Amino acid sequence: MYILVSCPVRGEEPVVVEAFRVRALPEGGCDHLLEFLRLYRDAVQMVVDSVWGLKAKLSKKRLHRLFYSDLVKLGLRAHHAKEVYLYAKSLVDSARGSGGRKPVLRRLSARIDRYDYRLDLGNTTLTLKLHSGYEVKLRLVTSRGRVERFRGWSNYELVVKYDKGGFWVSVYFKRSVRTVEPRTVMSIDLNFDNVTLAVLTLDGKLIRLKRFKTPHRRILTHRIWIERIQGRYPRSWRFIRGVRRAIERHGERIRSTSWDYAHKLGDLIAELALRFRSVVVLEDLEKLRENGKKDRRFNKRLGLWFYRRVQFCVEYEARERGLEIVKVDPRGTSSKCPRCGGKLVEDAHRVLRCRKCGFVGDRDVTAAVNIYRKYVSKHPRCGVSGVAPNAPKPDENPSGMQGNRDEAMKNTSSCMNSYES
Ligand SMILES: [Zn+2]
Repeated sequence: MYILVSCPVRGEEPVVVEAFRVRALPEGGCDHLLEFLRLYRDAVQMVVDSVWGLKAKLSKKRLHRLFYSDLVKLGLRAHHAKEVYLYAKSLVDSARGSGGRKPVLRRLSARIDRYDYRLDLGNTTLTLKLHSGYEVKLRLVTSRGRVERFRGWSNYELVVKYDKGGFWVSVYFKRSVRTVEPRTVMSIDLNFDNVTLAVLTLDGKLIRLKRFKTPHRRILTHRIWIERIQGRYPRSWRFIRGVRRAIERHGERIRSTSWDYAHKLGDLIAELALRFRSVVVLEDLEKLRENGKKDRRFNKRLGLWFYRRVQFCVEYEARERGLEIVKVDPRGTSSKCPRCGGKLVEDAHRVLRCRKCGFVGDRDVTAAVNIYRKYVSKHPRCGVSGVAPNAPKPDENPSGMQGNRDEAMKNTSSCMNSYES
């Protein structure tokens, strides 16, 4: 999966980091690799044991002075030693931070510095430099397509693990992303059955409106099936194999449908945002929980996980393209008039009306415009704090978008069908 690091240090370019996790088969026996992993684990434990008793803060320099020569004497290479004491320190720090006990390592895993391995993406092989001058060559069990993705990225560290009788490698890749200077704002409103996005210029002109259907109803159907089965066997469902299987199958459908959708939508949205050079504005779902009020756009039964997943993919894809992401407080986005701030009431199905000023608008588009306004009010470079001059009129709302309505679904349908068989 991905890890995101955005603007780690002020003035530095944002960086995308991704772990490439793959099974690895040692060529010509695995004795030395296993021996190395045991040695590494015991070395980390040794450092943990000694550091645990010390009260003083330990700098990198001090750690080096205390442990380096002992570690090298064990047969570890210079960079192994560095990784060992830094990893041990991080374990101790996090155990102390959470008030836990002294860490005891059981699993066999080692972090290896860039200088101690050679990765050949073309031949999908990896050579690790081990203790006492040993080397091991591993064949990575992967496809060409997965590897191709990382051409041009830089790899900087890896973790090798022995788990359930096999070796696993996670190589960390990173690359910097140039930032795109925003010319427009794309606000995204997530709903139960659709995702609505609006692209507006910095001075408030609406230039694009798009609506994508979500697979929520289908996900909810699987969820209801799970609940129904669990309800029928309230005590025993966990222990009856066939019943547990049926539940797992529905769970698997939910997972695959939602990930597939989120990835494709994230990609589509980010492409569009890149084309318009937009800053992407989303609602802060964490704030939604803090506010304590359930927004009726979000289905209680589904919870927020799906929206988080979609946001995660939108954010990832956008960052990867060097686009800026901003989150705004979702309070009032679906209940306040974008023209006068008055309270909106439901006028007809999906249509909201302001009693104060007479504004009438499609529910989702209104929310998207409100999200835009929240962004603008906090980012004065846009200069406009009032309502978008051409805020959508009621008649141009849903019908104007009909043509683009289900684009996300059209593109994903071929993949989705395979889950339905
Ligand atoms: Zn109003």
